[in-house]
Amino acid sequence: KPELAGALPPTAPKVALKARLSANENPYGPSPKALKAIAEAAPEGFLYPFQYGMQLQKMIADEEGVAPEQILLSAGSGALLHATALQYAYTNPGGSVLSADPTYESLVRAAVQHGMTWDKVPLTSGTYDHNLEEMEKRVNDKTSLVYVCNPNNPTGVTINPESLRAFVDRVSAKKPVFVDEAYIHYTGDPKKYTVIENIKKGQNVMVAKTFSKIYGMAGLRMGYMVGQPDTLKAISKWGGGVGNLSMTTLRAALACYKDDEFIKYSLSKGLEAREFLYATLKQNGYTYLPSGTNFVLFPIRMKGDDFTKKMMDNGVSVRQWKFDGQFWCRVSLGTMDQMKAFADALKVVS
Ligand code: PLP
Repeated sequence: KPELAGALPPTAPKVALKARLSANENPYGPSPKALKAIAEAAPEGFLYPFQYGMQLQKMIADEEGVAPEQILLSAGSGALLHATALQYAYTNPGGSVLSADPTYESLVRAAVQHGMTWDKVPLTSGTYDHNLEEMEKRVNDKTSLVYVCNPNNPTGVTINPESLRAFVDRVSAKKPVFVDEAYIHYTGDPKKYTVIENIKKGQNVMVAKTFSKIYGMAGLRMGYMVGQPDTLKAISKWGGGVGNLSMTTLRAALACYKDDEFIKYSLSKGLEAREFLYATLKQNGYTYLPSGTNFVLFPIRMKGDDFTKKMMDNGVSVRQWKFDGQFWCRVSLGTMDQMKAFADALKVVS
């Protein structure tokens, strides 16, 4: 389910919500520079946004080391996942989308809604990583698109970068590969893990990124896609492009995209919360999957619905999954106060 689902409590809460840790938002954003830019932009809201869109496209292209026509902007990256699904569903009727399972389902669900089949490859047992070897074997004539979420949602697990680049080298020679890097900043070293290099080599690869996570702008809606110019042109028929963007958000994005100080701050706060969360889980006898994201997934000892309901009764919203015969809780990283509220609730619920 899209993250939006996490924004809504599953049941009416009995107590006031102390911590919303269900939608992978980042409470440290937007950055002060973004907020200032929004305040300055608001009175000029009568202006159409085109010039700011072009500026942001150019700024991102320069930073990623590609040409501006290799960047497609959108109000959140979710719309780009959707537009990509439509492009491949309608140009390859009867085709399939290949991905890991579980993974982030926005793209694959849209693809299925528009007639594609979903070819799922279970994560590796024990480590819950992408099974790249099996995915590569599964590529066949029907495969229209390969979707890889790295680091993955809901597991938080990051793929070994050499293995992923080699996989993309080989697979993209046969079929288009889409890599969703929404959480890549939380690996601590986005350049090490990104496959933008594969795009620069001219390969049939797309990468989606978002301002919703490290930049803390989920509600302001800004995302982008990097890819080959022809591919992006085709996808933009279904969504994305400068025309639908809000000028206030564009100006916020321009102000914070290269704000390294804020990115470092945002990351350090996330890492502090992640370490606290790991320690809390250990103290309560839980294991967890190592996370390269702003959330952590851990196996729970009761039914998922019972667990989320009990946590909500203690003022904390989290999400649950079931796979590999096991119920899991996914908890997003919040402020330290929110993480402490999670720790208190977990102690009661366990
Ligand atoms: N990709 C992944 C893996 C996500 O988890 C999300 C949202 O949480 C998105 C894409 C979409 O994010 P947005 O539309 O806010 O950019």
